[in-house]
Amino acid sequence: MVESFGHVIDGQEVPSADGSTFQSVDPWEREPWATVALGSPADADRATAAARNAFDSGPWPRMSYAERAGILHRLADLIEAGGERLALTDTTDMGKPIAETRGHDVPRSAQNFRFFADHSTVTAAERFPMASGFHAYTEYGPAGVVAAIAPWNFPLMMETWKVAPALAWGNTVVLKPAEQSPASATLLARLALEAGVPPGVLNVVHGYGPGSVGQALTESPAVDRITFTGESNTGRAISAAAARNLTPLSLEMGGKGANIVFADADLEQAVSWSIKAIYTNNGQVCLAGSRLYVQRDVYRQFVERFCAAAEALVVGDPKEATTQIGPLASEEHHEKVTGYLDLAVRDGARILSGGRGEGWTVLPTVIAGAGQRDRVTQEEIFGPVVVILPFDDEDEAVRAANDTPYGLNAMLFTTDLSRAHRVSRALRVGTVWTNCFFVRDLRAPFGGAKNSGVGREGGNFSREFFTEPKAVVMNIAPA
Ligand code: NAD
Repeated sequence: MVESFGHVIDGQEVPSADGSTFQSVDPWEREPWATVALGSPADADRATAAARNAFDSGPWPRMSYAERAGILHRLADLIEAGGERLALTDTTDMGKPIAETRGHDVPRSAQNFRFFADHSTVTAAERFPMASGFHAYTEYGPAGVVAAIAPWNFPLMMETWKVAPALAWGNTVVLKPAEQSPASATLLARLALEAGVPPGVLNVVHGYGPGSVGQALTESPAVDRITFTGESNTGRAISAAAARNLTPLSLEMGGKGANIVFADADLEQAVSWSIKAIYTNNGQVCLAGSRLYVQRDVYRQFVERFCAAAEALVVGDPKEATTQIGPLASEEHHEKVTGYLDLAVRDGARILSGGRGEGWTVLPTVIAGAGQRDRVTQEEIFGPVVVILPFDDEDEAVRAANDTPYGLNAMLFTTDLSRAHRVSRALRVGTVWTNCFFVRDLRAPFGGAKNSGVGREGGNFSREFFTEPKAVVMNIAPA
């Protein structure tokens, strides 16, 4: 049965103004599974007007932090209660294994609301008693209307990562999910209404980016903040659009994560985390450890063990609980990723294991013999494809790790504590994981250096972005 998903504007699930729809395709079945409203700039404007009105004259920005937090906690409960439906929706929409949507994305989405609801209540103001009869404080008031533009690789999770802090600090939101994975955003908006989020506070508009809904949101003078996650080139276009209205923005963009394995590492631990680092979500992860640098003394041994572990991963129907590698998210993306496999071979590299799978799957792939400057080593492939390169010493590893236009994250495996600190400091990235991967504390900054990001979110960093901090100074001396 084909399901239907509308926009959610001002508390109502509605079709597009011109009645247009598009089909969302299940990448495992390679067939449409949902009909979705296809928005135009007119729908984006309707949603922005609803969000503006809810901000300017609705109750949400005027509620106490505690009252908003109560509603967001209710929303977190509803996400958990409806977790199976949400997990299955993202898995059907973009092919991510159900073990990941069920075990990670949905619980983390609930946690996003709980964390920011609580965080906003304890960090709402700062007081600065001054000498000589003056008193100053910072008021973290909401910024206004937030446009949240999301990618397809962690649909619900990335959307809640933006929506939760925006709502917790009293903003209203227009969310544009990616066109490849639209459905769970409508489900989220339905749950938000059920939890008591007032109409107009969380709006969802489906549609494309350039020349359409996404671009209209970034060019709107009624939008006060833009939070975007997606490709670096899209981030450039959004920056240029936002500059016209001087709209502050936060950009979380692409990556080409370096994963450095030193000879002194616990190899079993290194293999196991490195497998997760590249094959989680079929490698469609901005943080993926897609460049694996292994110290020459252990190179052979490591590669042998790594290939064996990659070949043992279960490839198949993402709706099966045991599947670890499903299809890529779309036919277009499958073409892009397999194009890189052909390119690697043309450039003289070897595919040690993996390659094309059935339908739109790509098997867990390991490439060796590529050069540091080759395109497969420099560009974001965004699939289950790792390039392994040997190195001789620490300086060489750090130089190579820093040698791409990206700077989102890096991993390193070592048992030498001094080395771990030294290398962490030398890496030009937003996150370094030592002897692990993907472990997050929502209080810590999240974002990228170089072409991987502008700004940081998480904890107080989200507060700085989603509020308009105001200094209030009072003369309290007797007149
Ligand atoms: P994308 O840039 O193609 O699209 C992201 C979103 O932007 C979509 O909703 C799209 O419709 C919209 N969009 C496209 N052009 C636009 C425009 N001109 N104006 C406004 N909106 C526009 O990215 P994608 O393919 O959906 O996602 C994959 C990318 O996201 C990868 O590069 C990945 O590394 C990155 N990513 C980064 C992070 C992070 O936290 N740094 C997290 C997840 C994904």
